[in-house]
Amino acid sequence: MIDCFTMYERIGISKEVYDYGEGVLKELAPRFLKIDEMAEYNQAKVLNALQKNRVSAECLYGTTGYGYNDLGRDTLEKVYADTFCGEDALVRPQITCGTHALALALMSNLRPGDELLSPVGKPYDTLEEVIGIRPSMGSLAEYGISYRQVDLLPDGSFDLPGIRQAINEKTKMVTIQRSKGYAMRPSLSVDRIGELIAYIRSVKEDVIIMVDNCYGEFVEEREPLEVGADMIVGSLIKNPGGGLAPTGGYIVGKKECVENAAHRLTSPGLGKEVGASLGIMQSLFMGFFLAPTVTASALKSAIFAANLYEKLGFLCVPNATESRHDIIQSVELKSKEALLAFCEGIQKAAPVDSYVTPEPWDMPGYDSEVIMAAGAFVQGSSIELSADGPLREPYAVYFQGGLTWYHGKTGILYSLQKLYEANLVALP
Ligand SMILES: *Cc1c(COP(=O)(O)O)cnc(C)c1O
Repeated sequence: MIDCFTMYERIGISKEVYDYGEGVLKELAPRFLKIDEMAEYNQAKVLNALQKNRVSAECLYGTTGYGYNDLGRDTLEKVYADTFCGEDALVRPQITCGTHALALALMSNLRPGDELLSPVGKPYDTLEEVIGIRPSMGSLAEYGISYRQVDLLPDGSFDLPGIRQAINEKTKMVTIQRSKGYAMRPSLSVDRIGELIAYIRSVKEDVIIMVDNCYGEFVEEREPLEVGADMIVGSLIKNPGGGLAPTGGYIVGKKECVENAAHRLTSPGLGKEVGASLGIMQSLFMGFFLAPTVTASALKSAIFAANLYEKLGFLCVPNATESRHDIIQSVELKSKEALLAFCEGIQKAAPVDSYVTPEPWDMPGYDSEVIMAAGAFVQGSSIELSADGPLREPYAVYFQGGLTWYHGKTGILYSLQKLYEANLVALP
């Protein structure tokens, strides 16, 4: 039998940590099988879309300059639209990140005097400045677009009477965040998003419903457009880029919504017609092709982390046994020291920059110091193994990614090794 431990030992994992990890892993086989089945299903879904749209060798080259008639770009957009069940898609390297994609979807579909509603509580930190919850240059608030929010009830359910009351004649758009982001609330399943959408439509039928789909792609069989959303929005350096996309974001959904976004991204009159894809089409296609299995690796890593840390007495969201709706795992580490140690461990496991020590910093768009551990091939990629957390109570770390399950496993063992060496945890 191959002795994996010798390899782990060589990179600094102790026998105690390794054995504890193996014990945890023994019980996870049935869950891992389910994840493999999901990956198989979604792999077929993506392959069908690639074939149906006749992806050819020419699609893998790029254009420069204006990017007129960019076959690869236009075909990739059809592949995204088919895979996610939208009428149209905007998938561009000119969309710089997830926040940009979300800002674009919002700003292009809202007009002065309109109101935006979040019926699932506070949105992701960076959106606070986009919306103007925290005043910021160029926010929706500066353009006379107002915002309302209805929090989830303490048990995590939707506040339906509150939502009904918040919807008014100005309500033009609703934003629903699938993943919990930096909150301890549960992430939403596609089914629950569907129930919420049905309710909102029963109050106001023609409202535009956008789902922030970051970290949710390929975790379930269905995506939010299949349960009534008008637009889904996300980042290519998360799940759908499969780790290979070097940059980019996407908006998929109703033709009119996507067109609005395209005319805002480029220019009125130009829309989707311009935008050179440069040399990255091959990575975008290939990354999308790999995305279902990469997402499965990230999910296995998250489940392993939850099982490993919950048994050591840390609160994990999602917990060790519940179903998954995104790839994020949070662990309440309860102290600054433990949060820093965890992130050091993740950094030490990285294929790139493994020798550096992550330091907390005031990241743009976030309102408290954040520590981030990532040694990624694509800078800041969070489908690659990474961990981050704001330096505030309860010192929760948000752990995500892992291009391969084995790398995710290594990272989690390292994080535990760091906590163990610092006497921040006792192994059973
Ligand atoms: C990552 C993320 C964003 C923002 O994406 P960036 O690429 O970091 O700008 C927005 N919403 C959610 C739920 C996210 O996970």
